[in-house]
Amino acid sequence: MNKQENFVILSFATLFLSTVATVTLAQSTVVNDEAIANSDQSGNWLAYGRTHSEQRFSPLNQITRENVTNLQPDWYFPVPNSRSLVSTPLVVDGVIYFIASLNVVRALDATSGEEIWSFNPQVGQVAPERMRAGWDNSRGISIWENKLFVATWDGRLISLDRTNGEQLWSTQTIDPELAMYVTGAPKAFKGKVLVGNGGTENGPNRGYVTAYDANTGEQAWRFWIVPGNPADGFEDEAMEMAAETWTGEWWRHGGGGNSWHGWTYDAELNQLYIGTGNGSPWNRKIRSPDGGDNLFLDSIVALDPDSGEYLWHHQNTPGETWDYNSNMDIVLADLVIDGETIKALMQAPKNGFFYVINRENGELLSAEKITEVTWASHYDIETARPVELPGVRYETEAIRISPGPIGAHSWHAMSFNPNTGLAYIPSIHSSTIYGDQGIDLEGFEREQWRLNTGVNSMPGGNTRDDAPASLQAWDPIRQEQVWEVLADSNWNAGTLTTATNLLFQGRADGHLLAYDAETGEELWDYDLGLGISAPPITYQIDGKQYLALLVGWGGSMAALGGSAAAEQGWSYGAQERRLVAFSLEGTAVLPRQPPPLIPQPLPSSDFIVNFDLAEQGGQEFNGTCSMCHGGGAIAAGIAPDLRASGIPLSREAFENVVRNGALSDNGMPIYKDLNDEQLESLRHYIRAQAEAALAQ
Ligand code: CA
Repeated sequence: MNKQENFVILSFATLFLSTVATVTLAQSTVVNDEAIANSDQSGNWLAYGRTHSEQRFSPLNQITRENVTNLQPDWYFPVPNSRSLVSTPLVVDGVIYFIASLNVVRALDATSGEEIWSFNPQVGQVAPERMRAGWDNSRGISIWENKLFVATWDGRLISLDRTNGEQLWSTQTIDPELAMYVTGAPKAFKGKVLVGNGGTENGPNRGYVTAYDANTGEQAWRFWIVPGNPADGFEDEAMEMAAETWTGEWWRHGGGGNSWHGWTYDAELNQLYIGTGNGSPWNRKIRSPDGGDNLFLDSIVALDPDSGEYLWHHQNTPGETWDYNSNMDIVLADLVIDGETIKALMQAPKNGFFYVINRENGELLSAEKITEVTWASHYDIETARPVELPGVRYETEAIRISPGPIGAHSWHAMSFNPNTGLAYIPSIHSSTIYGDQGIDLEGFEREQWRLNTGVNSMPGGNTRDDAPASLQAWDPIRQEQVWEVLADSNWNAGTLTTATNLLFQGRADGHLLAYDAETGEELWDYDLGLGISAPPITYQIDGKQYLALLVGWGGSMAALGGSAAAEQGWSYGAQERRLVAFSLEGTAVLPRQPPPLIPQPLPSSDFIVNFDLAEQGGQEFNGTCSMCHGGGAIAAGIAPDLRASGIPLSREAFENVVRNGALSDNGMPIYKDLNDEQLESLRHYIRAQAEAALAQ
């Protein structure tokens, strides 16, 4: 019996058992393109953005503007050993599937929260050294027929039997020698699964996306995003074309463009849209010294979903040099523009413009600023190019530019409601000071596994006095804001909208809110007691509509957010991470969360800081540890604040954790390559930071 036959028999056995166990869990939905593209299927939530359009619009209508205040917790599931929860759960036929920290996947009864199975890919055992690149943030999973796909931190794509959680196949999607990682939800379409990667900041890396056969895990195709060394030959004509837009020896620096999120399959036009990343390194003067657009950095690229061949592209930021990427959701809709129905795609990438593109041919229809944007005055629609302002490339001196690397909008999902005609964007009013004074641009070299962007960047402050962020309702046809709600902090979660013109969003302050999608009027406010970074979903079983979301402060702001993010008090392990489902008939009582906790540095009279060693340790720390423990050792929630930890006080304990991997099952990487002096320097740096904070 081959593996395939074995699988079919297993599935039938499980189907029979679950039918006997409970009628509501009967398997009936075949999760394929027809089902995922069908906007009328309402009981399930089959894919990341609900349907292939990525609109996050649900036709469910039980929860309305009139009764939304009656929403109460229906059930909840405490997620063990978790911190950064940013993913979108999926629901098929009464089962809710979700991915949590360390890429652990669970299937629960979606009416009760009772666990059916769990799968742990053992990242801490399989790849303890590779956890030093990237973050423990998975944005989701994907389902095709009876298979569920998990992309792990360390780059594996794993297929599970979704009826019992057993592994069917696993394949490595990235070269283990390279400091790349995966946070994006894999995407299933046409019997294939797509995976991308991140890593532009961690080493000289070159981005690509790969599609695998959903049944076998065999590679179907790979699309490289930037060209490699011409001497090695180009993989395809698109790379030959792209190479015309690069100068110097870009391949030595990787080039970047890594696509870690932002993939949309267009079932109507049989096209796949890929949002691409920023340059490696950030500074164009280093990677392409004589200028050039540097295709396909910071672009939307349309590919043939069967072959991965290039079809067309629009580059949002030619010659990207500010860490701008277009890895944000690409949302499809029919828009009536000047009396003509256009098959459009919409995107609000980091660079601050809102793009509307005719997806039949890639023609840019409009691009307007959603927030303060100072790198360009406007977009010239004739040439489909931005008009840059003088000095913005920090040619001669450092300059404050908005938006900064956290963007005008990051990966937090934008939704679109076809009834109101509005897109709902969690936007950020950020700026950054960019400069490269003191950096050896010509001699620039960097190694894998070390953070180095080729830019001296510093926070530039908020661009608005009234609020650091907002929830914006944006009219894509008129290209103007219809309403906005200001937010007190700048890392708020993605949005969900429904046919009853409701809009839901969780915020960094732990509140889940419902708004009138037409007016922005606040209708409901529920305090979940822990920062929310994941978007809500909605589904219906046996006539009851549920609203569900993961509650667990996460993402890069929870890693590198510094003191402003740390002050939220969502520190590592302080509050319980949960999956919570609400309904109008809910009677569950959520245990009260502990109050916000800001870790206090541990005093020690025994540890005498050597400041020379501490300075050396600071460079070491910021090249790698800061990725999770925060710049300046100020942790923002994803990992412990080391200034408050007793471990650095003991040489033996520190060595056990850092070099011997005592906590690798918790997500702490192993650093076998650190010598004794480097280890000591890190301890002295951490203690120096603790002493400095205590002295304040
Ligand atoms: Ca980046």
